[in-house]
Amino acid sequence: MALHGKHLIAGAWLGADASFASDPVFGESRTFAAGTTALVDQAAQAAEDAFWSYSTTSAETRAAFLNTIADEIEARADLVTQFGCEETGLPEARLQGERGRTTGQLRLFASHILDAAYLGEKHDPALPDRQPLPRSDLRMTKRPIGPVAIFGASNFPLAFSTAGGDTASALAAGCPVVLRGHAAHPATGEIIAQAVHAAIQKCDLHPGVFSLIQGGGFEVGQALVRHPLIAAVGFTGSLRGGRALYDLCAQRPEPIPFFGELGSVNPMFLMPEALSARGAEIGAGWAASLTMGAGQFCTNPGVVFLLESDGADAFLAAAKGALEGQAAQTMLTPGIAETFEKGRGHIARMDGVTCLVKGQVASDRAATPTVFVTSVEDWFRNDDLSEEVFGPFGLVVKLSSLEQMHEVAKSLKGQLTCTVQCDQGDLAAVQSLLPILERKAGRLLANGFPTGVEVCDAMVHGGPYPATTNFGATSVGTMAIERWLRLVCYQDLAEFAGNLKLQQVERAVVR
Ligand code: NAP
Repeated sequence: MALHGKHLIAGAWLGADASFASDPVFGESRTFAAGTTALVDQAAQAAEDAFWSYSTTSAETRAAFLNTIADEIEARADLVTQFGCEETGLPEARLQGERGRTTGQLRLFASHILDAAYLGEKHDPALPDRQPLPRSDLRMTKRPIGPVAIFGASNFPLAFSTAGGDTASALAAGCPVVLRGHAAHPATGEIIAQAVHAAIQKCDLHPGVFSLIQGGGFEVGQALVRHPLIAAVGFTGSLRGGRALYDLCAQRPEPIPFFGELGSVNPMFLMPEALSARGAEIGAGWAASLTMGAGQFCTNPGVVFLLESDGADAFLAAAKGALEGQAAQTMLTPGIAETFEKGRGHIARMDGVTCLVKGQVASDRAATPTVFVTSVEDWFRNDDLSEEVFGPFGLVVKLSSLEQMHEVAKSLKGQLTCTVQCDQGDLAAVQSLLPILERKAGRLLANGFPTGVEVCDAMVHGGPYPATTNFGATSVGTMAIERWLRLVCYQDLAEFAGNLKLQQVERAVVR
């Protein structure tokens, strides 16, 4: 039997009195031990114990560990795909692609830390003769923050879950991880945890470096973020859940950073020239982006702003043509399908909203796309129109001037992305819009669609609240490691480094 349905705590697979059953789209439902606050305490204590050795491992050791996790995941590839498909309803090709992205992320962080440039070290040499006062020798480096709690995401069972980008970046930084598995995919979570466990053993690391706790309800997640030994939290999920956990982190006697990636409507602005020349083409492209993965991407381009025109009519007709009659796609969980249905219904009942594509959600959590159209006046009247409806949902807002486009852009809440569709003749219009959009989103795109987030050095997957709770940080790409590092300055310690035997100080001396 590939699965045992237990938690991985400090190298041991532990059961619990209570259990919960998985709710796969197809295949057998399995039983898993439910998390408890006692298990949270055990995992956090083990992570703290592990921190003393793991935080001082060499970059080579951590890189070898990350590469071994990737190898161990590949060794379980068939089971990962099987459980992933059963539990999420996502197609096999998506699971295979996401596995490649997940192992790619692990390997990317492995190579990233081998170049110490990631530490951004600074050195101000001593100036003993400076007047009126001498200056000390000052060397700054970055150190891991401590044990990190990570919440797996429902919509990326691999790339944002058990050994996803948050875990990979935290382990690369030198932080042990306590992972709260998402209840939507416990079998997938366990098989990946088995891969991490095997890598810990092969690399001879402290077993507390990684623990997995599944189920047990909000009590478990709340105990985790409140635990005094947890130093930071990584989260991907809903605004409501993320905000609740963020508030708990802030209310702790010792507040800790909460890196939450919450939600976004990823506005797309269609500039007049592009709309006139390519309205239909952009409409078809938007429809494809909107329905990718049943619209369950944080970068789904949910809201479009365009000027009323022939190009706008062509855009709407092409989008309608591409979306109507599309086959239903299974949503990740019954809860997400239900929330989608409620969100659609709420907007359908609003004044000034007309239906372009009438989707539906069937009882087997399968959804077809929905698109509504509204005016800029109604956009400003109804705050709820700017809320994310997670799923294959789009809203088109009609404007009558570029000035209105500026007003709309200024009114936006924080976003992960903003997109402009533009041609050469739109240059001036884009130039005046960009300073507004830069204040709203972490990533600005021209003539593309925001779904599909490259994992690389320059990527920013972040943005002002409510897109995230962490403003200047990114949860995708190599800069994601910054979230788990603290600046430390060593003043006049270099002179004694040989005796101190502190690796980080010794290295600072050598440079
Ligand atoms: P969620 O409800 O926010 O849950 C995410 C994780 O946080 C789960 O492990 C959940 O625990 C935990 N949690 C939530 N609220 C909590 C609280 N008050 N106290 C303690 N723990 C809490 O997100 P979801 O389950 O992934 O999906 C629900 C909705 O989230 C979707 O409909 C969508 O709106 C949004 N979502 C957005 C994105 C995005 O990237 N923008 C991605 C995924 C989901 P339990 O397992 O115990 O429930």
